[in-house]
Amino acid sequence: MAKSKWKPPKEALIGGMTYTIKTYAESKHLKSGWRRAGYVNFRTQTIHIQRDHPDDMKATLLHEILHVIFRQVEEDIGMDEDLHLNEDLVHAMVRSLRCTFKGNKIKLF
Ligand SMILES: [Zn+2]
Repeated sequence: MAKSKWKPPKEALIGGMTYTIKTYAESKHLKSGWRRAGYVNFRTQTIHIQRDHPDDMKATLLHEILHVIFRQVEEDIGMDEDLHLNEDLVHAMVRSLRCTFKGNKIKLF
C-alpha cells in the first residue's frame, strides 16, 4: 500500500475548539487486532490518523472531524442521541461532502 505524501495539519479549529492532530503507525495497535484508520480522543481533544492505512488520510481526517462536529451538534441542541457514534452516518456524510465538493470543483484541502 502506498503511503500518502499529504500530511495533515498539526491542529484543526472545529466549531471553535482546537483539536490536536497526530498520526500513528499501523503497528501501534496491531497487537490488539485493532485496525482503525483513525479515532478521536474527546477528552484530550486529539484526532489520531493512521499514516499507513489504505484509506486516504484526508478522508480519514474529514471522517474524524465529522465525529467531533456531530458531538458538538448534540451538545448545542441538547440531543440525547449519540450521533457522533453512528459510523454509518459519518461514512454517509463523508461520501456526500466529497461528492458535493468534487462535483462543484471546490477543493476540500
Ligand atoms: Zn468513525
